Amino acid sequence: MSLTVQIEKKYGNFHLDVFWEIGNELAVIFGPSGSGKSLTLHMIAGLLKPDSGIITADDRILYDTNRGILRTPQERRIGYVFQSPALFPHMTVRKNIEYGATGLATADRVRRYKEVMELFQLQDIEAKRPTEISGGQKQRVAFARALIRKPDLLLLDEPFSALDMQIRGEMWDFLRDIRRFMKIPVILVTHDVYEAYSLADRVIVYENGCAVHSGRPQEVFSFQTMPECETPLVFSYMFSRGFY
Ligand code: ADP
Ligand code: MG
Repeated sequence: MSLTVQIEKKYGNFHLDVFWEIGNELAVIFGPSGSGKSLTLHMIAGLLKPDSGIITADDRILYDTNRGILRTPQERRIGYVFQSPALFPHMTVRKNIEYGATGLATADRVRRYKEVMELFQLQDIEAKRPTEISGGQKQRVAFARALIRKPDLLLLDEPFSALDMQIRGEMWDFLRDIRRFMKIPVILVTHDVYEAYSLADRVIVYENGCAVHSGRPQEVFSFQTMPECETPLVFSYMFSRGFY
């Protein structure tokens, strides 16, 4: 599947105006806080309406101002995971995951539930409540809930940034497994350069509401060092743009 996003939105003084395309790949949207990354995901998911533009997934039009098309979030078949897993505290892991399959026929729900539990190895904790499991496990439950309906696209808004470094590494492997099994495009928002570099097939760099680069991580973050300076260019690039 390929996704084309060309959207414009004004929010007070902030102006988001981006155009980019991705194929069936893991694309990272990388940029400083306030550059418009989360707004972009909200508009792709259909939670927020752009002022104008077009969003298409292959030949399916999700949004088109000129043709007056605005698909609902449900019609878009998109899975979404946020920084905080936002699980229902009073429900078990099982109920939380099944919630993602609300509206499916019972037989489908049961089959899909079994599939995601096996895929994500969550069987041992299915009777527990969110307060009884770790941060990494909570995030895996949030992924299972987002994927149980077999979406065409997965949106991830800084899902690992609250986890400590070791768990984050495990979650990166977990995300690679998801890509291998589900074979759907993934858009990951992050401001962590290591995360972007180690996971991305493509990096789209945001600055102040604009998509200023799109390319392979090796192209976007050049790790060559300048002869007179030991600092990799990627860091000088980031310092100069206020990432740190
Ligand atoms: P980030 O790249 O950190 O995810 P966001 O996409 O959340 O940034 O926000 C980009 C900018 O959009 C913010 O700096 C702010 O100016 C504006 N913005 C976001 N949400 C709102 C809102 N609900 N009301 C007004 N302005 C907003
Ligand atoms: Mg954000």
